[in-house]
Amino acid sequence: MPEVFSCPQCGAPVQVPVEAESVTCAFCGSQVPAPAEQVNAIRARKLGAKAKPWIIAFILVVFVLPTCLGLAGTLLGVAAGFLGPVIAIIVGLFGAS
Ligand SMILES: [Zn+2]
Repeated sequence: MPEVFSCPQCGAPVQVPVEAESVTCAFCGSQVPAPAEQVNAIRARKLGAKAKPWIIAFILVVFVLPTCLGLAGTLLGVAAGFLGPVIAIIVGLFGAS
């Protein structure tokens, strides 16, 4: 919903688009800043849009990566569990003589 308020220069009603931080008054041509809440909301949204890839990267690093590493660790553990006795048998066979 566009915000409508009075131009501080001439008092004419000025409509500020939702995504604008300021608008030029159609009556006196002065630059009218959008209400502070709207500017803050726009900046928060822009910051949020910038922060989003970092949040995704953070989630990937903090949650997904350890899960993958845990899986890799499990695979290594299985491999070690399988190779351990094989190596022990080989060492036992050749070490005994
Ligand atoms: Zn004006």
